[in-house]
Amino acid sequence: MAKWQCEVCGYIFDGNEAPDNCPKCGAPKEKFQKLDDDAAALVERSRFSNNLHMELLTLLERAKEISAKGIEDALDPACVKIFEAMTTFAVDIQQRIKAELKTHMTKNKWG
Ligand SMILES: [Zn+2]
Repeated sequence: MAKWQCEVCGYIFDGNEAPDNCPKCGAPKEKFQKLDDDAAALVERSRFSNNLHMELLTLLERAKEISAKGIEDALDPACVKIFEAMTTFAVDIQQRIKAELKTHMTKNKWG
């Protein structure tokens, strides 16, 4: 399926032709450019990986919430150590994911 990108806001629309108006910013149909086959394939390929990254971000947020409860519970120092390590790990991976997604956005691996 063809992909059309709004020149105003970057929204990518999947369809045989551009929409009458951009669903995000309202720009008219004339503001959409059809992506060439390579660009469209890169967007399609990247959607899967980007969705995995976003799913991990969500899971790590949950891991941080669970760890906070464990730290508060503080059954014993070994438990707290594990929960603190999980928090540090989750924050680190979340920041790496955000940096990676930023590079995807600037290299047309997004949309
Ligand atoms: Zn737009």
